[in-house]
Amino acid sequence: MRQAVTVLGSTGSIGINTLDVIARHPDRYFVFALGAGKNVTTMAQQIVLFQPRYAVLAAEADALQLQAQLPSGTPTTVLFGDAAMAMIARHDDVSIVMAAIVGAAGLLPTLAAAQAGKRVLLANKESLVMAGPLFMQAVADGGAQLLPIDSEHNAIFQAMPVGFQGDYDAAGIKQILLTASGGPFRGWSSAQLHHVTPAQAVAHPNWSMGQKISVDSATLMNKGLELIEACFLFHCQPEQIQVVVHPQSVIHSMVQYCDGSVIAQLGQPDMRTPIAYGLAWPERIEAGVEALDLFQIARLDFCQADEETFPCLTLAREAFAAGGTMPAVLNAANEVAVEAFLAEQIHFDRIPTLIQYTMQQHTVEPMIGLQQVLNVDSWARECAKRALIEGTL
Ligand code: NDP
Repeated sequence: MRQAVTVLGSTGSIGINTLDVIARHPDRYFVFALGAGKNVTTMAQQIVLFQPRYAVLAAEADALQLQAQLPSGTPTTVLFGDAAMAMIARHDDVSIVMAAIVGAAGLLPTLAAAQAGKRVLLANKESLVMAGPLFMQAVADGGAQLLPIDSEHNAIFQAMPVGFQGDYDAAGIKQILLTASGGPFRGWSSAQLHHVTPAQAVAHPNWSMGQKISVDSATLMNKGLELIEACFLFHCQPEQIQVVVHPQSVIHSMVQYCDGSVIAQLGQPDMRTPIAYGLAWPERIEAGVEALDLFQIARLDFCQADEETFPCLTLAREAFAAGGTMPAVLNAANEVAVEAFLAEQIHFDRIPTLIQYTMQQHTVEPMIGLQQVLNVDSWARECAKRALIEGTL
């Protein structure tokens, strides 16, 4: 039987790659619903191609514009807003939900999919960073299958023993080796980073991605968010994870075992590989990805991450160690800082300064519920924005 898929964030980089893989397997999958922010033109094209039952945008005005652009007779119901986004994530007729809305906006629908027991393909790492304990509880309570799409976590998942539940000693696992490309500014000095432009920061050397994650990769915040994500997904502490800078992005991460073995997953830097793996797991399907040519790659390099020049990774470690509501503050402040940098309001090297300032203003609370996380998220955004306006930094 064909499986129904909801794609949240369909107009983005991961969403478009997901639809590409789905289109290669019409015998296995069909698109039940599409959800996105405000890209009316791309959404209209996707609706014409995939004829989903629902399409949801964030705001009413965009939904009205979208409705007006669709050819008459299109069988798609166009909706808008948070409730509709959660509805397409938890709908009874859906089997698989691709969670690929960027940032905190992805939390509520991703959580809805987990609570409803779907196969959740998690690209939206921010939801796990903000609300890790709540999210993992929702997965357990809802009986959801959580499959990581981030290429590193997908690689770790592939290198772990089948059915791994978190007992590292029993599985003979020594540590996780989380690879990082190092971003476009690997080897740069702090002084050089001051002059970085948004255009330089979004030009990742190996991956083609959305703007926010590209900047996160350039600051190493992406690795910090991934470190926290890995702790929740693989039931471990940061001490069990070593960050390994690997500029070629051929190895997507590794697991080191007590007998001296290191199991790695290699592949092209193409998100269709982890997406196809998540869709079909435990089977494998064709993803449209070119085979890896090791002779062409010829060499693989590794080095330590430079956390002094790129302090965002350290800030993420500190937020996770503080626990409770602090990772939500880290995430919110980072989103504000990245937006401000992309809008050319702050220099690149002010991104970690703003995040650190916001974290310092926060008194950690133990995490007790979703409303609290949302309140902390709003508070952190206001705090960071106020600091920008008042020039506190
Ligand atoms: P993009 O910026 O390319 O796409 C983001 C998507 O989210 C778009 O569809 C956008 O819609 C949608 N969106 C933004 N705001 C809202 C909102 N308020 N409500 C509903 N939808 C919204 O990002 P990526 O595809 O690169 O990344 C998506 C997620 O996947 C991120 O969490 C990222 O960290 C993660 N990820 C991405 C990887 C990649 O290779 N790109 C790799 C690993 C993880 P619209 O454009 O219509 O406004």
